[in-house]
Amino acid sequence: MRIPTPRPASAFRKPLSAALDHALAHLGNLDRAPVGPSTDIATLRARLNRPLADEGTASEQVIADLVADVEGGILGSAGSRFYAWVIGGSVPSAVAADWLTSAWDQNAGHHAPAPAAAVVEEVAGQWLKEILGLPSQAGFALVTGCQMAHVTSLAAARQGLLARRGWDVEQHGLYGAPPIRILCSELRHETFDRALRLLGMGLVNVTYVSSDFSGRISPPALEEALARDPSAPTIVLLQAGELNTGAYDDFEALIPIAKRHQAWVHIDGAFGLWAAASPRYRHLLKGISLADSWATDGHKWLNVPYDCGYAFVASAESLRTAMTHEAAYLTEGDARNPLDWTPEWSRRARAFPTYAALRELGKNGVAGIVERCCHCAHELVMQIGSLPGAEVIAAPIINQGLLRFLDPRSGATDVDHDRRTDEVIAQIVASGEAFFGGTTCRDRRVMRVSVCNWQTSEQDVERVVKAVRKILS
Ligand SMILES: *Cc1c(COP(=O)(O)O)cnc(C)c1O
Repeated sequence: MRIPTPRPASAFRKPLSAALDHALAHLGNLDRAPVGPSTDIATLRARLNRPLADEGTASEQVIADLVADVEGGILGSAGSRFYAWVIGGSVPSAVAADWLTSAWDQNAGHHAPAPAAAVVEEVAGQWLKEILGLPSQAGFALVTGCQMAHVTSLAAARQGLLARRGWDVEQHGLYGAPPIRILCSELRHETFDRALRLLGMGLVNVTYVSSDFSGRISPPALEEALARDPSAPTIVLLQAGELNTGAYDDFEALIPIAKRHQAWVHIDGAFGLWAAASPRYRHLLKGISLADSWATDGHKWLNVPYDCGYAFVASAESLRTAMTHEAAYLTEGDARNPLDWTPEWSRRARAFPTYAALRELGKNGVAGIVERCCHCAHELVMQIGSLPGAEVIAAPIINQGLLRFLDPRSGATDVDHDRRTDEVIAQIVASGEAFFGGTTCRDRRVMRVSVCNWQTSEQDVERVVKAVRKILS
């Protein structure tokens, strides 16, 4: 057996240089390459699923093989014509800072092994609260995505609601605790439900409150639902940017109602909370700073690489009580220890890319991305929607919209239109000109349009509308 010997720093030069070359080639080619996949899963598996070798492979060879083997299976989601799901790209300094995060390889759970990461995270947290218009004393956590931001926020909610009733959930768990009731719209992201499941709060405790086509909760309906069981500890989920339409709840009306009933208001603002950065769209969030917790993503609209979500909790005390470890062997110090605020222990120093992106963009740069994406989403939806055979189902409020394609045959039914919609989506993806996804909205197949990339421009809109026109005619 060959025991690997310590390698000099120069051992990094070849694989890192190869990675840089390939990364620049990939990013530089996004405008020309097909946006969708150009190979299938079976081919990828045949290339990648080698027997695990006894002997190692030279690092630069590993990188060269990896790049060759994944070809056709890396989508152009870093580029400007990817509109499926809510997927952002990454601004240049955030990619570079992400690479440095790996090179520095700090364990950012605690400030002792990662002092600079701890300070950068403190600063990034304050900057985020400022640009998102959240209370400056709120506790925060940088986690893997909005899914874990929900888990983190709702763990704090559980702590806060039950502590008020004299129940220490950290010590006693939920066995014997007063059941927590959850009020929300039927339309919401599944990550919220999974957060409830992971925290033991159980889906049977969810009650739907009447809401409109876009999931906006009706204030009288909320009032009525809360009054039905006035003493139950309650979480109310409100949305800043509903998944399909980007709709915003009426926070100014709803939050005071929830507060009168001592409910905990949690906001899913995975992408929509970023409207706060723009003077044009900020009004959609009026009243939101009175909520108790907010969950959002960095890897969507801020355009930092994946593995970046943020939780904010107005009661820093509840967040800290829910998360803190206070292990005796860890030294106390002057800096914030992320492991006291997040569900993680050892963790990536994911604040570096956030810090870099906020510096590269500045407040105006973030506002610019938000406004450009909203503008392009609007143009894409309205221009495609005006083509023969297309129909606008939801015009964008911000950066999300819905379209449908109609079967031209006379007597065509909804089933035919559903089929036509999926067929057109598949044809657009196959053209390589853009990538869209379909979803079922109120029993009809629709094409989702989501614009989240800092690079998407009017030229992209023109190019994509032209491609769709060709497919429809
Ligand atoms: C994307 C999204 C989530 C989940 O976020 P992840 O970062 O994928 O964990 C939750 N809610 C909404 C509205 C989303 O768009």
